[in-house]
Order: sequence, then structure tokens, then C-alpha cells
Amino acid sequence: MIVMKFGGTSVQDAAAISRAAEIVASRLEQRPLVVVSALAKVTDALLAMGRAAGAGDRDHALGLCRQLRERHYTVAGEALGTGVFTQFHSELEAHFDSLDELLRGIAAVGELTDRTADNIASFGERISSRIVAAAFSLRGIEAEHVDSTSVLVTDNRFGRALPDFDETNDRLARLVQPLVEKKKVPVMGGFIGATPQGIITTIGRGGSDFSAAIIGAGLHALLIEIWTDVDGMMTTDPNLCPAARRIKLISFDEAAELAYFGAKVLHPATLLPAVQKNIPVQVLNSRNPSNEGTRITARAQHCRNTFKAIAAKKRITIVDVVATRMLGAHGFLKSIFDVFDKHHCVVDVVSTSEVSVSLTVDSNEAIPAIAADLDKLAYVKYEGRKAIVCLVGENIRGTSGIAAKVFSAISDINVRMISQGASEINITFVIDEDDVPDAVRRLHDTFFSDLDPEVFE
Ligand code: ASP
Ligand code: MG
Repeated sequence: MIVMKFGGTSVQDAAAISRAAEIVASRLEQRPLVVVSALAKVTDALLAMGRAAGAGDRDHALGLCRQLRERHYTVAGEALGTGVFTQFHSELEAHFDSLDELLRGIAAVGELTDRTADNIASFGERISSRIVAAAFSLRGIEAEHVDSTSVLVTDNRFGRALPDFDETNDRLARLVQPLVEKKKVPVMGGFIGATPQGIITTIGRGGSDFSAAIIGAGLHALLIEIWTDVDGMMTTDPNLCPAARRIKLISFDEAAELAYFGAKVLHPATLLPAVQKNIPVQVLNSRNPSNEGTRITARAQHCRNTFKAIAAKKRITIVDVVATRMLGAHGFLKSIFDVFDKHHCVVDVVSTSEVSVSLTVDSNEAIPAIAADLDKLAYVKYEGRKAIVCLVGENIRGTSGIAAKVFSAISDINVRMISQGASEINITFVIDEDDVPDAVRRLHDTFFSDLDPEVFE
């Protein structure tokens, strides 16, 4: 069997759902199981109405909910046609009625707990999966909706619940496997699960990829397809560099480095359950299904090129923490990072010298407060409008002279920080934001002009 996951934009309206149905119909021989996200932007809208209700703004919350109801009725009406929509209408209505009721309850209490926020957020996938299953059936696919909250068992860390793999695998084998064997196409919502007591949870934003990986691993899928709205992963951002090409094959570790540095296609950490079982993951474009996309595999294939891709992340601030009293003292770094941690400030690149630590953060809001907290240990300077550039490739490992080649390609650009991670598959440096297009183009010319046809398009 295979798992086919459709993201929010791939089910955002009736036309997208029809395209998804065609794609699934073309793969029936491979026994697909379908995982869907909420329709595009719905999770954001749900969380916004939850917060409005939590702040006591009942009318605003209910107004947002009304808009969401309208949108779903429209999509379902168009995807199902009047006949089927009439039968389906009461089911949809019941969901939105209970969402309304929930929002009224939250507004009355004036508090949105994490547990209730998860319940609210879950409506996106609970509803989208039902609409998609009905639309597939109408188009001749033997689809069967399976409620993910009765299959995916998690702990109760609301908002980022972790799956209980043993229990989930057991339920997959009991409740879902038989459907696949009967040649049905199970359709499940991603992102959502429930505790053993049946309390609804979510597994983190963007979590439908994680759901697909958990389900694929549990059912020993041969392949997991992630359907999005781009032709897979590229050697760099085509907006920055028109010579960018599609990457056909990439390793899990390489993809993970790229995701961290801003490649928005997917978050490979969530694919871990699949990678551990050696299940390849194919990223595909639901608007251009004949394109073969990008295949992510546990181990890197042989590749002639040093790098697989160049990523750039803008809007970075460099923070220099210069030691005063604690210079060289035991525990200095720890006390610095504790302060960043306390302010929930995520640090990307770090480099240290005897007297200072330089690090990058992607938001400078917390810096004044951090500087105040560090006052006794160090003083803090910062500089905005920087960018992180990251070159990724497994071939960096054990090849000499690569850094020299990288930095000579951009020798007249001022490089502020350099770092090579322990994974040894990336070279990362920090430059001025304005230098990014030039730097990326020159590096792309240097390293991607003669491409290995097995690995790149
Ligand atoms: N709908 C959820 C989100 O927006 C999960 C997903 O789409 O993967 O985070
Ligand atoms: Mg996503």
C-alpha cells in the first residue's frame, strides 16, 4: 500500500479536491490510503476564533466561525453537487453547531486552555476529511472515512502531542489495514489524534506530514507521497536565481538541513517514522501531477555534485554578547543560553571567541529584555538585516578544499559568521541581506553548472 497526503492548498476548493480525486484514482492499483490537511488557512482561522473567544470577544469569534461555515458549505456544495450535498449537509451542520457551542463556552469562561484550543483546531481536519471522502466516493473511488481521533493515540501534550506508536500501530492494524485489504481507500484527517481517554489532541502545526509518516510506518507502506503545490525541492529559490533546478533525489538529513533554513516544502523531522522504516517519501505537485517531484530517502544516493542545494534565510539579526565580568568563567555559555531560552528566543547559528559569543536570531523583539537580563554578565550589541546562507550536501563529508572554494566564489562579500555543523553536511555563513541574491547566484554558478543527471532535473 501507499500513503498519499494532500496538504491544505491541494484540497482548498472543489477544483483542488477534484484534482486530488483524479490523482488518487490513477493510483488505485497501489492501494492508497489518503491523509488530508484542513482546507488552506483553516487552522489559522480556527485558532484565531479560539483566541477571540478566549479574550471574551464572543461576537467576533462567532462571526469568524460563520465565515468558515460558509466557506465549507460552498466547497462541499461545489465538490458534491446538490444531490449529495443535501444528504451530507446535516453532518456538516452538526460540526459547525458544536464548534459554535464550544466558542460560546470559551467566551463565557473567558479562557482558552491548550486542551480546548486543540479541540477547536481539530475541526479543520475532521471536516475536510469528511468532505474529501464524500467527494471521492462521488467520483467512483471506494473511499471510506476513518476518524483519526480513534486511530492516532497520543499523550496529552496539547498542541504538540506525541504518538503512542504501539497503541497507534495496533489500531491501524485492527481498524485500517482490513479496509486496505478490501481495496477500500481510507481517508483520514492529518494533524489530529486523541489520548487513550479520547480527548482530542493535535500533533504540531504542519502535522499532517507527521500523520502521514506515522500511518505509513504503521502500515508498512511502500511509499509516502506528499502532495503540495510546488514541483518538489529546488537547488535554490528560483526567485533568487533563475538557474535553480529541481532536485530529484535527496537524503533525509539533507532535506532536514534545508527545511531548517527556510525551505518551506515540508518539515522532514516529521518524516522520521517513515525514514526509520526505510520508506521513501516523494514530494509532488497536485497542480502538475506528471512531474516526478523530489524523492527523499533514508540514505543519500551517489551524486557527482558537492552540494544538493543552497538555502537562504533573511530577516536575521546577529547578536554579539560580549563578556564583562564572567570572561572565560565556567558556566558562561550556559548562563547566556538560559537567558535566550527564558525569552523563548530561538538561536540558529553560534560562534564564540574568548571574549564574546555571536549568535543569530530571527526576531529581535526579545533582545532588549535579553540584554537587560544579561546585564550582570555581558553587554549586548545587535545588528539586523542579515541573512543566513546554507549550502547542503552529504558530499561535504570527507572532501577537502570545499570551504576555500565556497568563500573564494564570494570573496568580495563581507562574511560575518561562519559555521559548519556537527552533521558535517552543511556550510553555513551570515552576510548582509542585500548581498543574498549576488552570493546565491555566484555560488549556484560555481557548484551547480554541471549537474549530475541522476540527481537533478
Ligand atoms: N492543518 C494543520 C496546520 O495548518 C496541519 C497541516 O496542514 O499539516 O498546521
Ligand atoms: Mg503542510
